[in-house]
Formats: sequence, structure tokens, C-alpha cells
Amino acid sequence: MEPAIFSERADQIHRVGEQPFRMACNRESLAGAVSQRACVFCGSRVVLYPIADALHLVHGPIGCAAYTWDIRGALSSGPELHRLSFSTDLQETDVIFGGEKKLYRALVELIDRHQPEAAFVYSTCIVGIIGDDLEGICKKVSREKGLPVIPVQSEGFKGNKRVGYHAACQAIFRLVGTGSTEGISPHSLNILGDFNLAGEIWIIRDYFKRMGLEVVANITGDGRVGDLRRAHGAALNVVQCSGATMDLAKMMQQKYGIPFIRVSYFGVEDMAESLYNVARFFKEPGIMTRTREVVREELISLYPQLQKYRKALSGKKAAIYVGGAFKAFSLVKAFRLLGMQVVLVGSQTGTEEDYRELEEITDDGTIIVDDSNPLELTSFLKEKKVDIFVGGVKERPIAYKLGVGFCDHNHERKEPLEGFIGMLYFAREVYNTVMSPVWRFLPRRSASH
Ligand code: SF4
Repeated sequence: MEPAIFSERADQIHRVGEQPFRMACNRESLAGAVSQRACVFCGSRVVLYPIADALHLVHGPIGCAAYTWDIRGALSSGPELHRLSFSTDLQETDVIFGGEKKLYRALVELIDRHQPEAAFVYSTCIVGIIGDDLEGICKKVSREKGLPVIPVQSEGFKGNKRVGYHAACQAIFRLVGTGSTEGISPHSLNILGDFNLAGEIWIIRDYFKRMGLEVVANITGDGRVGDLRRAHGAALNVVQCSGATMDLAKMMQQKYGIPFIRVSYFGVEDMAESLYNVARFFKEPGIMTRTREVVREELISLYPQLQKYRKALSGKKAAIYVGGAFKAFSLVKAFRLLGMQVVLVGSQTGTEEDYRELEEITDDGTIIVDDSNPLELTSFLKEKKVDIFVGGVKERPIAYKLGVGFCDHNHERKEPLEGFIGMLYFAREVYNTVMSPVWRFLPRRSASH
């Protein structure tokens, strides 16, 4: 059977230059289309799990906890309690008689054994159906054990991944404001929306340090409960990946008056612009001077090293399909810096504004797609004869089945792709994949085959 586009989804696909811009998005996934989106619980887990000194307990069947740290890791410079996967492993009798007692016992045992700074308890589909009182159990254990025990209302059926982000933001917001802000510099910020999958937050923290700024809390890569509790003392929230933590930034602005700016740490242009935007916020000449110095030093070292890759990759074609559209903007620019052409770009959760911006920065003929599925992506990759596909774990098999190179830019990656040095790693990875001799033995399955 030849791949096809579902007629009901036609308005979620746009071809740049071939029609006036008009895109539908932010709607429920089409039944039968098998969206690339994950469930609500998965969305909340992505955001909260990097908090390294907290206990993370999944209240539900064991299958919901399948994505362990070893698949979706987030590095920590200290405690590593987040590496352990805990589940109440609900079974048939628990579903019939309720899982509250089991949850209580699991929480007490785990807290006694691991002495966490806080505990997050994730609700899954079945818990939403049987109606366990998560809030009540968490309150009881919190009182008895003297630490925050926070329910995460992340029942998988409640919506899509974006709803999970919101549930995670609400959970973090319960911690913010519970610690002392004494001693925090007026030149301080929180880093929101970076999950330190491969050490990226350490690269970014180093830039801010060299600029003379104090980072109060990492939200949430290499995160600590104590830092989150005092995060309301920071002067600024710097938000990456607008989908995941934007709700928290908005809540903190409303309650504590902390302004936020959106940034991206991917690619040279966006990385530099993000640092300059942060420096501009503080209106302090010394910070701006140091920022220029950071950017200058990094670029002097980076540009000569990029030339080899640029020369080899010029004219090659790339496709992008990521969770949040904000990352896609930076990737389009990063590929351009390598002399490559982006022919397909899409996201799971982009807004109309995001897609409009993508339309402005991409070339005529580029396909822009919202909430796509394997069938469509396969069809587009074949049509455009791409050399490399950038995405996450669910996109990888699509690329490999077609004999197309793949670059993991999602939660499973092990290489830091942020910051100026991240651009070098990205170029190296794209180069190694696109130029790999393996493609000689595995011909690409283009539209004509
Ligand atoms: S959809 Fe429901 S059952 Fe499936 S993983 Fe998510 S929470 Fe668990």
C-alpha cells in the first residue's frame, strides 16, 4: 500500500510558496492516524524526572513506567535518585479494590529507604478511572514524613503531551516559594526548559557564569528540590522549549512578578542572540561586555572547525520533526549554517504563530506539518529524497527503514547539542551520518522505487 495523507489532516500541512499560509494546529490527534505524540503522563515525566534528589513514583501498571532512565536519561552532577524507576505496579485486585493502600505503603517504604528531598507521585490512566485519592494520600504521607509529596495529575487519557507539561508545571509550582531567597544576587536567573540529557545545562550555566550571572535553579535538568523552592528569588526566568515550561514561567510571573524571556540554545545564531537578550535584560554594561567576550571567544574557536563539515554537506537535504516548534526554528538555521537545505519541518505541538514563523524562514517547496504520523512522514521523506532526518525515538525507525540517515535530537540522545560547542557536535554528527559509507550498501527508497 502506498503511503497517503489523510484528507481530514490536509489543513495541518502547508507547502511553502505553493499556497497562501493557512495551517490548522493545536487540535486533538486524528483517530486512526497514530500520532507521534506521547501521552499526558509521558509529557509530565519528561519535565519532572531530571529533578535528581526527588523520588519519582509512578502510580499505575508497570508498563507506564517503561521509559527508564537508561532510555531517557538526564545527567546529574550529584545525587542520582532519579535514575531509579519506581512503580506501584497496579494489578487486577488493586483496580477492583482501589490502589490507595498500596500507594501509601510504597511511598512510606521508599521515603524511609531513600530519604529524598521531595516525592512526585504520577497518576496514570487507570488511577484516573478507579479514582484513587492521590491528593489525600500525598498529604497524609507529607505530614507523616515531613517532606513535600506532590501529586502529578497526569492521567494519560486527559489530552496530549502538552497537558502533561502543564501538570508538571503545576507540580513544580507547588515547590516554588517554599524556600528562603536570602543571598540571591539581583543579577540572577532560572534556566527553564533544559533537561540536561547529555550535559547541556552545564555548558549553558558556564556561559551565564562567565557573563557574571547567578543561576538560582535549573528547571529541571540536574535539578534540585532545594533550588526549586527558592526559584522565586531569581530576577529572570529564561525559558527554552516553549512548550514544556512556559506555563510555569507564566505562573511565576503572575504570582511573583518574575519576567521571562524565550531563548534557544541550539545553533550559533540563536545561542548568541539568547545570551545577548539575557544581557540586555539586566541593563548592566559590565554584563554586556562580558557577554560579547563569551560569544567572541566561542566563535573564534568554532568557525574554523565548522568549515570542513560545511564543505562536505553543502547542498544536502534535511528533514526535521520534533516535539516543540521552537527547536525547529534553531535547527533550520543550524542546517543553513552548514549549507544544507531543510525540505520538511514539523512538530507535535506547534502553534499557528510557530508555523507562520517557520514559513518565513524556510525556502519555497518546504513542507511544514503539524502533529504528523509515520505514514505521512514516510511519504514526505520519499518525495523530498532527504539525506538526513532529525527527530526522536519514534522517528528513527522511519528513517532507517527508508535507508535515510538519522540524527537524534530528542530525549534519548547522548551527545550535547546545545551551545556553541553543541553546534560543532551537531555538525560532526550530521556529517558522520550523511557521509557514512553504509548508504552504498543500503540504497535509499525514493519515491520512484
Ligand atoms: S496512555 Fe495511560 S496507560 Fe498508556 S502509558 Fe500513558 S498513562 Fe500509562
